[in-house]
Amino acid sequence: MSRVAKVLKLDGGPGRRGFDRGRALVAGGAGFLGSHLCERLLADGYEVIALDNFHTGKRYNLAGIARDASFTCAKHDIVDELPADFAVDEIYNLACPASPPHYQADPIHTFKTSVLGSINLLELAKRNNAKIFQASTSEVYGDPLVHPQPEGYFGNVNTHGPRSCYDEGKRSAETLFFDYSRTYGIDVRVARIFNTYGPRMQPDDGRVVSNFVVQALRGDDITVYGNGAQTRSFCFVDDLIEGFVRLMNAPVAPQHPVNLGNPVEFTIMELAEMVVDYTNSRSRIVHRPLPVDDPRQRKPDISFARQHLAWEPKVALSEGLARTTAYFDVLLGGRRFVAPR
Ligand code: NAD
Ligand code: UDP
Repeated sequence: MSRVAKVLKLDGGPGRRGFDRGRALVAGGAGFLGSHLCERLLADGYEVIALDNFHTGKRYNLAGIARDASFTCAKHDIVDELPADFAVDEIYNLACPASPPHYQADPIHTFKTSVLGSINLLELAKRNNAKIFQASTSEVYGDPLVHPQPEGYFGNVNTHGPRSCYDEGKRSAETLFFDYSRTYGIDVRVARIFNTYGPRMQPDDGRVVSNFVVQALRGDDITVYGNGAQTRSFCFVDDLIEGFVRLMNAPVAPQHPVNLGNPVEFTIMELAEMVVDYTNSRSRIVHRPLPVDDPRQRKPDISFARQHLAWEPKVALSEGLARTTAYFDVLLGGRRFVAPR
């Protein structure tokens, strides 16, 4: 029996345990988004199994649900095959490092995670006739030449730069999901997620919101890469998870990926100034070199999600930043330095 089968006690096949909504598997369940999704699925009446290799995920993200009898977490790398007798009704694939420094640390494993990991989970979906969700990304649009980005835009992606392991891996995964759907009739749901932030990002995650908030709370310099004129659109985590659930439960599966993100666009310099203001920090804004292939602008066109999922974000950046700041304040042990500027 494989290690994951032992942890999950899957010898002889688990069978569903009579949960209202069945058994959901969340790959990447110990991560930022995955832990919020596990909580939501438990609240909705699923038995939930989280799989994670703990590359960027943390067990403490799951502290609130660890003792729930309907929840199991097992260490497993989705690049490795899953037990053949693993029974599951729904699969969410969130497993993949999402922050540029993390996904670039081992680019070949990042690519394998998106390609081999997707194949392993799609095979599991095929064996179980399970519905399967893929966490794709706005990075499939690369450095977009169309603004805002609708789902029909094919993107502008470098195939061989330092970001390519992530961007091209996610593009390949989209291909696999729709090929499995066309070939085997599997019900697939693919979300293209735009920059999302909130509690349970890691303080050393490297993404812009966590970096700026942590730097501001510590009184360190706020590191704006380049001149800060590049734009992003920031979605609060609760809004995104609601979008996941609506997409997964839509009565008709969209036959294409669906953008999920907040369409309100900010420059990175505007974000830095907001964070300094909200935290009343003494931090200075400093500039660092712009990373290679850093997209210059990004903003989702969410017309499809609005019309077909009745979904749009509700949490403004000001409110989301306040909630994120409160989380990091506690996580950093209240070592917040606030001084009059
Ligand atoms: P995260 O790094 O917090 O979560 C990823 C999780 O996957 C971690 O727990 C990590 O340990 C796990 N993981 C990584 N490789 C794995 C593997 N091979 N096998 C098993 N587990 C593995 O990042 P996140 O922000 O929560 O992102 C979750 C998903 O959403 C990712 O697939 C990411 O690409 C996608 N996404 C996120 C955003 C965002 O803004 N947060 C934007 C676009 C796409
Ligand atoms: N960024 C920044 N300072 C940081 C981290 C990121 O200026 O400390 C910039 C980064 O160059 C990019 C934007 O913020 O233009 C968003 O970066 P992030 O890594 O969060 O997401 P992505 O580039 O994948 O959209």
